[in-house]
Amino acid sequence: MKLITTRTEMTQIIKQLKSNSNTIGFVPTMGYLHEGHMSLVDKSRQQNDITIMSIFVNPMQFGPSEDFETYPRDLERDQSLAANAGVDYIFAPSVTEMYPEEMGNHLSVVKRANVLCGKSREGHFDGVVTVLSKLFHIILPDRVYFGLKDAQQVAVVDGLIQDYFFPIELIPVATVRENDGLAKSSRNVYLTESERKEASQLYQSLLSAKNAISDGERMVEKVADLIKEHIEKNTNGSLDYVEIYSYPSLIPLETINGKIIIAVAVKFSKARLIDNIILDIE
Ligand code: AMP
Repeated sequence: MKLITTRTEMTQIIKQLKSNSNTIGFVPTMGYLHEGHMSLVDKSRQQNDITIMSIFVNPMQFGPSEDFETYPRDLERDQSLAANAGVDYIFAPSVTEMYPEEMGNHLSVVKRANVLCGKSREGHFDGVVTVLSKLFHIILPDRVYFGLKDAQQVAVVDGLIQDYFFPIELIPVATVRENDGLAKSSRNVYLTESERKEASQLYQSLLSAKNAISDGERMVEKVADLIKEHIEKNTNGSLDYVEIYSYPSLIPLETINGKIIIAVAVKFSKARLIDNIILDIE
């Protein structure tokens, strides 16, 4: 496994790989790797000759009061985890390497961005699509891997790829969870011991919603209320949102029908956690 930090060197390597007809799978991350990231790597290794992972905490997707400065970082640990998982190259550029000067052209997400995390994190998805466009142009991947834990991101990136004709196949990967159901996340390290116990309730609340739907409930408001009550009763966190939309179009619904996403975000003392389930309802 090789660590690359400059665009120039990465571009040279990509040229070489392409001239040898290698297919390239790309796994964009912000590092502090866990098994969720590794499931994307596994999938990429199954489908491509070469797997490249980027590790870049992108300042542009963090709001002024968010955790850009304190976001957990440990490149040495990440390198050994990535090497063990079979990553071929890590691309870990500096902020100035990715944003050498003030940009004169901006990408702005206008569809699927003003709901869920996009609503409370203004400008977040503009930052995501900007950095991904840059990375796609450097890495020139055949396939790119994203986790459904960030299902809105999957929907937004799908739109980016379609709108700008990126010749890239997007592969969504199922959420990897801890034994108690908590979705693995780099931000879980922010949780206190008691919050860590409560955090599994995000997934439990989604499962109770799923059960209610299996039992015949079809009113969006009722299902959302169930989740709200579950979170309020079982955690000390504060509910940021519980929302139910069609997926991947993210259009509001009154009744549950077709492919839908039920998504929840809860703020704990130092961590804001998100989770979701996607269901296909006849
Ligand atoms: P991040 O480093 O948090 O930006 O995540 C990088 C990629 O890993 C994104 O596509 C995430 O959706 C994905 N990811 C993060 N956590 C998980 C998880 N628990 N299961 C599956 N994919 C995940």
